[in-house]
Amino acid sequence: MSGKVWLVGAGPGDPRLITLMGMDCLRRADAVVYDRLVNPLLLAEAPAHCEMIDVGKRADHHPIPQDRINAILIEQAGMGREVVRLKGGDPFVFGRGGEEAEALARAGIPCEVVPGITSAIGGLARAGIPVTHRDFASSFHVITGHLRDGKDPHNWRVLAQLEGTLVILMGMSRLAEICRQLITHGRDADTPAAVVMNASHPEQRMVLATLSTLAERSARAGLAAPSLIVIGEVASLSLLQSL
Ligand code: SAH
Repeated sequence: MSGKVWLVGAGPGDPRLITLMGMDCLRRADAVVYDRLVNPLLLAEAPAHCEMIDVGKRADHHPIPQDRINAILIEQAGMGREVVRLKGGDPFVFGRGGEEAEALARAGIPCEVVPGITSAIGGLARAGIPVTHRDFASSFHVITGHLRDGKDPHNWRVLAQLEGTLVILMGMSRLAEICRQLITHGRDADTPAAVVMNASHPEQRMVLATLSTLAERSARAGLAAPSLIVIGEVASLSLLQSL
């Protein structure tokens, strides 16, 4: 009889930010298939018999192809196991959770999703930045900085006109270009902007600047992935000290 796959969000990093439901799945798992951004402290919660399968990026920067990850999930559940697919943040926010759920459905494997706290909202909260605020932002927009097949998926003219908070994930390698695009298309160069690295981890760091100074300041402070980029008035509300 086929087992089941639980697509579980691990939260932004601090192991206490997984949900009770996610922890429950983890403690009952026969196999855990996990990503690079998952805190190792959480993995220790799996039972002794549980097989731990690392599908995070390798040292040589070649990620395991998504097809292979799908195949591992199907294979493990096919053995009758309770499989936890543990992903950073929320499984359906830039985590390819949707693709995995589709592949499992096609293979006839039962699958349930356990949402997680996304870094895009909860990570900012841990840095004292409210993603919305009645006085400053009545919407927020979460976008990827990642190029797909070398192409930029965004219409920066439209994004620059939005009044809400802009949160950019996977954007650090293109930070200077992103800020430049927004300014070129009309967003005020003095708009408050921040980078939050390793949000919710003990080694969390942040740089608070403006759209025109953010790239240089965060480079000087040595901030790199995994980081959140946040653009909008709410960034200036950070309750923590900037570097
Ligand atoms: N599903 C995840 C996002 C996966 S994409 C979520 O909901 O949070 C990976 C990107 O998320 C990273 O490149 C980074 O931009 C962001 N990210 C995830 N965890 C983070 C953390 N603890 N601190 C800062 N950024 C984080």
